[in-house]
Amino acid sequence: ARTKLLGLRSLPSETKDKVQVDLHANIELPVEVTTVLQNGASGIGLLRSEFMFMNKNYLPDEEEQYQELAGIVSQMNDLPVTIRTLDIGGEKLAVALQNEMGSGPNPALGLRGVRLSLRREDLLEAQLAAILRASLHGRVRVLVPMVVTVAEMVRVRQIYNRVADRLRANGHKIPKTLPPLGAMIEIPAAALSIDALARECEFFAIGTNDLTQYTLAIDRSDDQVAHSYDPLHPAILRLIHEVSKASLRNNVPLSVCGEMAGDPRYTPLFLGMGLRNLSMSPGSLLPVKQRVRRLDSRTSEYQTQQILDQWDPARIAVMLDDFNDLA
Ligand code: PEP
Ligand code: MG
Repeated sequence: ARTKLLGLRSLPSETKDKVQVDLHANIELPVEVTTVLQNGASGIGLLRSEFMFMNKNYLPDEEEQYQELAGIVSQMNDLPVTIRTLDIGGEKLAVALQNEMGSGPNPALGLRGVRLSLRREDLLEAQLAAILRASLHGRVRVLVPMVVTVAEMVRVRQIYNRVADRLRANGHKIPKTLPPLGAMIEIPAAALSIDALARECEFFAIGTNDLTQYTLAIDRSDDQVAHSYDPLHPAILRLIHEVSKASLRNNVPLSVCGEMAGDPRYTPLFLGMGLRNLSMSPGSLLPVKQRVRRLDSRTSEYQTQQILDQWDPARIAVMLDDFNDLA
């Protein structure tokens, strides 16, 4: 089966009725880039920058981050690379920031993602500077995690512009139009304020892992409740669908980059909701492409409408299995 999948590497990612579905990769480490290219990804949809901060007892400075990021961006050869700013906090820990962050009563609801970046603007500035310099080596986008309010994006953009001005003043050739700045939609509040966020964001990436966790109030690493972690809960599907419609309406590019995006079972649903860009771990690229190539976009749209009318996750799962068996 693996050899059959490998044959798909250079085939286009398109449905039977020729609808293009961009398949990007999520990466956590620079070594993964080779696999990303081998598996025919058309870009990196989520570069988790945490690797530069985890397993280290110091904070990497701008130069160190620049070197790491520039290496990845150059290797990607002008394919787009979406670099996410630091998403430390919750389950992701950095030794050098431990004192800073303390241990609040509930880390998942505490100082993490963009909240930490706005608390420690010095860290965010160094990171944005490294990203802007790395952007001279290819096509970069900047993604902000755990966004809840429009004000957070306004503040990040102010800092982004200020960092760009400083770099220019120091002789760096930063492009006049900065790389697009976008938000992760992974907290229900963000999904429900999507039209307002669209005014401040140049793109969106739905993070289904956190969106599911925060919508259902279930931590899937908690054995007691993990069995109830179900992305097919209609609340999740409706949130994703609303975000997709709003992105089309506001002309803001959208991708999905949580684990759901890498599971071929869900591909007809995303297609049917109007999504045309999925980002996943490198090992899922070929299985998802195989699924895309067996689907018809209009059939998927019709089936998705039927699923969106349901309220029982178990029934939805059965319907989805049936639709996948037909394809
Ligand atoms: C997500 O929350 O779905 C996501 C892609 O981000 P992470 O898994 O890094 O939290
Ligand atoms: Mg997340």
